[in-house]
Amino acid sequence: METINNYINGELAAPVSGTYIDNIEPATGQVFSLCPDSDERDVQLAYAAAKQAYPKWSNTPLEERMMLLMRIADGIEKRMDEFVAAESKDNGKPLKLARAVDIPRAVSNFRFYASAIQHFASESHHMPGVGINYTLRQSIGVVGCISPWNLPIYLFSWKIAPALATGNCVVAKPSEITPYTAYLLSQVCMDAGLPNGVLNIVHGLGTKVGQAIVEHEGIKAISFTGGTETGKRIAATAAPMFKKLSLELGGKNPTIIFADCDFEATVKQIVTASFSNQGEICLCGSRIFVEKSIFEKFRDAFVARVKKLKVGDPNEDETNLGAIVSLAHKNKILSYIHLAKEEGGKILCGGSEAKLSGRCENGYFVEPTVIEGLDYRCRTNQEEIFGPVVTLTPFENEEEALMMANSIKYGLSSSVWTNDLKRAHRVAEKIEAGIVWINSWLVRDLRTPFGGVKASGVGREGGWEAMRFFTEPKNVFIKS
Ligand code: NDP
Repeated sequence: METINNYINGELAAPVSGTYIDNIEPATGQVFSLCPDSDERDVQLAYAAAKQAYPKWSNTPLEERMMLLMRIADGIEKRMDEFVAAESKDNGKPLKLARAVDIPRAVSNFRFYASAIQHFASESHHMPGVGINYTLRQSIGVVGCISPWNLPIYLFSWKIAPALATGNCVVAKPSEITPYTAYLLSQVCMDAGLPNGVLNIVHGLGTKVGQAIVEHEGIKAISFTGGTETGKRIAATAAPMFKKLSLELGGKNPTIIFADCDFEATVKQIVTASFSNQGEICLCGSRIFVEKSIFEKFRDAFVARVKKLKVGDPNEDETNLGAIVSLAHKNKILSYIHLAKEEGGKILCGGSEAKLSGRCENGYFVEPTVIEGLDYRCRTNQEEIFGPVVTLTPFENEEEALMMANSIKYGLSSSVWTNDLKRAHRVAEKIEAGIVWINSWLVRDLRTPFGGVKASGVGREGGWEAMRFFTEPKNVFIKS
């Protein structure tokens, strides 16, 4: 069985405790590798290495930093098959999804920020007759990056790449539920010749490793993606230490469908927007609001399509939904389906775990589930489930659709389906979410800001936003 190790000061290292956590393949329920059970001692070693590497790395010419990040991207690409297999095995997602989305996106993240650092500019402001102010944007020092299990290497690299590009040294923690691709990344970094200590990856539990990163006095900024409750805890610890914080948290995203949408295309895309990655994408739409005049027609066409989705072995090409990431998470999803029934919801399809045979007979699978008849204020419609469960609710008019869409603590993303251009702009303006897709879903341009409002987080990632987050602005005034 493969043993994963930490990546500290340019070398693979066992955790100081010498103990490991079982890493389970969710499609089979079997342990397939061992993940370090690190603690604050490993974080301290990682910090010391990062601190030592920082003066040189932050003064490394931009072109050299760019070349190194490009080499990391090339290294992932060269080992594409290995990364794809590991991402799918760790997380349970279909192999074809990891190949189409997760791994190419990790490559793009490194390439994007490798190039961005060469074009990043800061402002200058002229005061006529007085002088010039210019803004010096300097790296912060040692920063912490903590990421979740749903898009393991995609989100991990989304943080690490801009942090490194801007000259910081990093102590990073992937989710211990999906550590494998981060481990492969450490091998790629060693092969690419990334200087020792510039990136350090410490594996282990959030309550030990994550907490130790957040509490560390020398780690000056934290970029975190994960649940809202964890985000709250991190903010409570880091804010009194005056750390810079970027928090990308949970969501419960509305999908608003107007009667004038392109019906067939909309139905097809909403199925993808609801159930991709088993619904375990923070951007999946889980509350579907449909204009009353087409509600029944949409419901029937949507349910008919959902019933055709295949829950299966992630390794098989025809599989649409793979395994849920863990037994605990599967049970959480099932408990919400139970709650939906108690709250008066009618299950239109799905509603239970999916039982597979053969290799996957002990895996964690849930049927794609569609529910109607729930009040928009009930718990099923207000709490994040983060699985293949969506609700359908009719609305009378635009005002009611917006009221229901916004009646929630979250505000990550949304999608609006209409052919009325004026309405599309109007609704986009009024919707309380960091991202609005019109007649589309999950289209990402890496240059644009990414993130949520309300309980979905603070700060933005992506493009220049991430470059700004990972640098401190210093105003310099020169008298004329
Ligand atoms: P968690 O909040 O449980 O964990 C996220 C990461 O934080 C993990 O690495 C976790 O480690 C670590 N962690 C846990 N406790 C602490 C702590 N006290 N201090 C520091 N780090 C800690 O989220 P999940 O992994 O369950 O991910 C699912 C959540 O992520 C959903 O709510 C989803 O909406 C959200 N998400 C948000 C996105 C966005 O862009 N807004 C994108 C993707 C997901 P460990 O695994 O050991 O617990």
